[in-house]
Amino acid sequence: MLNRLVLCSSVLVFACGSQQTATPGAPPTADPVAKTPTSPPAPTTVEPVAKKELPAPPKQPSFAEPYRATANKIIKAALADKGTWKKLAYLSDRIGHRLSGSKGMEKAVKWTADTMKADGHVVRTQKVMVPHWVRGIEQASITAPIKKPMRILTLGGSVGTARRGLRGEVVVVTSFKDLVAKKAKVKGRIVLYNVAMPKYHPEHGAGYGKTVAYRWAGPSQAAKLGAVGVLMRSVTARSLNSPHTGSLGYTKGIKKIPAAAVTVEDAALIARLAKTGPVKVRLRLGARTLPDKPSANVIGELRGRDKPDEIVLIGAHLDSWDVGTGAHDDGAGCAIMMQAITLLKQLKLQPRRTIRVVLFTNEENGGRGSKAYFKEHAAEIPKHVAAMEADTGSFTPYGFRVAVADKTKQNAAVAKMAEILALLKPINATRARAGYGGADIRLLTKAGVLGLGLDMDGSKYFDYHHTHADTLDKVDPKQLVQNLATVAVAAYILAEMPGRILPPAAVNKSADKP
Ligand SMILES: [Zn+2]
Repeated sequence: MLNRLVLCSSVLVFACGSQQTATPGAPPTADPVAKTPTSPPAPTTVEPVAKKELPAPPKQPSFAEPYRATANKIIKAALADKGTWKKLAYLSDRIGHRLSGSKGMEKAVKWTADTMKADGHVVRTQKVMVPHWVRGIEQASITAPIKKPMRILTLGGSVGTARRGLRGEVVVVTSFKDLVAKKAKVKGRIVLYNVAMPKYHPEHGAGYGKTVAYRWAGPSQAAKLGAVGVLMRSVTARSLNSPHTGSLGYTKGIKKIPAAAVTVEDAALIARLAKTGPVKVRLRLGARTLPDKPSANVIGELRGRDKPDEIVLIGAHLDSWDVGTGAHDDGAGCAIMMQAITLLKQLKLQPRRTIRVVLFTNEENGGRGSKAYFKEHAAEIPKHVAAMEADTGSFTPYGFRVAVADKTKQNAAVAKMAEILALLKPINATRARAGYGGADIRLLTKAGVLGLGLDMDGSKYFDYHHTHADTLDKVDPKQLVQNLATVAVAAYILAEMPGRILPPAAVNKSADKP
């Protein structure tokens, strides 16, 4: 279940304060971290980054210092870059949304592959079969004690209602505990999970992780007690009457009941009305799941000059929900990664190792792209020097969350990344901290590859997340190229430095069952 909980929500796990569990097993030799001088600079740890000074310089010179001039060159070129915006604008405005199985996703696969080829990169696609869920019609209204239409979005993966719709009295609950306490009332009724997402906190991040479990597991938990439908208060801390979609996960063996997100405003209204008497609603959903369809991961490479078989993977997900145009989620991540290798190529910076862009398919409602990548590249896992992911939109970059399976190597890896990120002082993206890498690199990280989640200001992401409002106008072109600079500098140094931050991960023998 946790796998599904982290879909499209890199923020989720680090917001919860947990980190990935370890799958160590790296050979004891060739650990460059262990041999390097100690006392590297402590990472900057407090937001906002701009207000804090860097810690005192380390006694030993930073291993990254020789790259400062090159880093400055990359930053300067990135901040003047127009290509990232152009790519994102095409993906967002011309192709539009890219739900798995949709025409938009098919077009996006072709266009991103063609574009990376035109930029001079080595490109291939990896075929992946993906779920094909379609939304269909969606209507909902409060029918008693007042009459009011509601703006809703069916949850991804939901079954539809009967053609004539579903009518029922609402049971409002505020937690799973509350649901169980009210179980005598649930049978034959529609459960509303009215759980407020906590506000963004500069230290603890977004409160997404605290509420998304209701969206994922809520329908089956309610169905277990005899509910006939579920309404979910949208998972956002700030609302302008927009419903937010996202995946649900039905539990095997429990009846699948229809489920839709209502706005924060309508959830609050129903809760207020329910305090004084029964509230009835009508729900009509045409959602259904069709047979799987072929899709693909798109893979583009800037080949290494010296060790082309060693890989720094930089990834994002190409699919999106079918509302809005997936500009922040995750069109921005795709455009940043695609442009990062193009920028290095334009600067004639061919690093020692290969930088591999992977645009994963089906992150939102299945994660099939990342599973297929992991399975097909099982033998190549030890050659992955790092895996980087961008999946929290495009806002002011802070640096990277560093995910290390072997916790004994965590601090040293964070310290090494801090040395690299010190070169990003001109744009203040200097923070390295332990945390979650991302949903599409999760299997690689778990296997022992250094995981890096592009870390940025998360105060606005969940306002737009999975809504009709996730469109290009919400993206700031300046922040977009700051993210480009952060990714390009870090990817270049990881691909160019003589050693690697973590020793090679073991070949994953259970890759068939990731
Ligand atoms: Zn996403």
